[in-house]
Amino acid sequence: MARDLYLYNTLTRKKELFKPIHPDMVGIYVCGPTVYGDAHLGHARPGITYDVLFRLFRHLGYKVRYVRNITDVGHLENDADTGEDKIAKKARLEQLEPMEVVQAYTLRYHDAMRKLNVLPPSIEPRASGHIIEQIALVQKILDAGFAYESNGSVYFDVEKYNTQHKYGILSGRVIDDMISNTRALDGQDDKHSSYDFALWKKASPEHIMHWPSPWSEGFPGWHLECSAMSEKYLGEEFDIHGGGMDLMFPHHECELAQNTASRGRGGVHYWMHNNMITINGQKMGKSLGNFITLDELFSGRHPKLEQPYSPMTIRFFILQAHYRSTLDFSNEALQAAEKGLKRMLQAFKDVKTISVTDGAPSIEQIAGLETLIYDALCDDMNTPIAISYMFDAVKMVNSVKDKTIAINGEDKAILERIFGEVGGDILGLSDDNSQSSDTKIIDGLVNMIIESRKQAKANKDWAESDRIRDRLKAIGIQIKDTKEGCEWTLSE
Ligand code: ZN
Repeated sequence: MARDLYLYNTLTRKKELFKPIHPDMVGIYVCGPTVYGDAHLGHARPGITYDVLFRLFRHLGYKVRYVRNITDVGHLENDADTGEDKIAKKARLEQLEPMEVVQAYTLRYHDAMRKLNVLPPSIEPRASGHIIEQIALVQKILDAGFAYESNGSVYFDVEKYNTQHKYGILSGRVIDDMISNTRALDGQDDKHSSYDFALWKKASPEHIMHWPSPWSEGFPGWHLECSAMSEKYLGEEFDIHGGGMDLMFPHHECELAQNTASRGRGGVHYWMHNNMITINGQKMGKSLGNFITLDELFSGRHPKLEQPYSPMTIRFFILQAHYRSTLDFSNEALQAAEKGLKRMLQAFKDVKTISVTDGAPSIEQIAGLETLIYDALCDDMNTPIAISYMFDAVKMVNSVKDKTIAINGEDKAILERIFGEVGGDILGLSDDNSQSSDTKIIDGLVNMIIESRKQAKANKDWAESDRIRDRLKAIGIQIKDTKEGCEWTLSE
């Protein structure tokens, strides 16, 4: 399917027509989580954003190699060059091996992503599995003259780099401003300037994760892994690099500098950044008491939550905002998303069973609707606009269901494509996935009860049949007898 796709490129600060490096194969690299704690809301947004990008490319007929890494070493506290490794710290506090921490939280992250219907990436490399590649990259940057060794550590020489290339082009920071804004170096004597960043750090005696290198027994700097692993799996030049806006500086800026210093070019054609999530207008943070993990959202077990929210509600809620806009979580907003999703998913089901009227005239808006939806998705993944058009399709399904309008087979097929291909394949909305195991149990039980009622009716035991109906109603389950059998819904 040949469709023009426009993406906003952080590097050029404008929407650009996407042109792949290789005609049929798109390479995407996305910074994944540092696995030292439970997956939280902050992980859901990039997870879902780049999942839709992945799905959209595949739907448009591209082969995609989607690489999303796991950071399991080198990410120090406060995203800085000093302090404890985040994973090692967690391991110390929980008296575990660092790789036990990594394993446990990687599994939990995968589990949360699966519930959100986020497809697994094509490759999920770990930083600790690519130490050799990272050491080779440090050597290349040293050989190119853009790094220096200092007491067993190696630092990137930002000032030297800036004389030949521009440091700060991605985040729009100007190095002169950075120099005037940096405080005097305290306890970081190994560096020439405070804005230089570590490529390799000599391990202090208490640092438990370390590897031999030409410079010291140590560990790689946090930014290095993404340069090394994206090059290994996608080549020196690749199409798209994504991540959260919070990673733009310093992480991606440093990555871009490392690429340029080692290969003479940045190598990434489109940089994409999803915006952040706030909670009731505030930044999410442990100290604010509004740090919500995905498990807490799914179960409702958090003082800030009025109820549980299904993974599909979270997914739908995230897609109802454009990925470059901020998104504010609140109970009211999530409840609105829950209602909207329910309506949408009902139409997913109904569209399959609405009856076709042969010779019915085409419904005017339907033919254009599909185009409008694809135009929105291909306009820098404008999922909120696409969803708003999908609600127009929902209305049409409902009108056909209410018999206010008749539909012909062609129009019905378009509506089915809108829900199946756009809603299901690209946006990843589905009914099954939205069901927690609890809802599956409820479904099974209600169906069993309805079965008994059917039996009562077959035995002409009307009293029993009515009793079952009334009891169900009392606990919030409405049942409706139809020609086909019996339908049930949870009342509002
Ligand atoms: Zn990264």
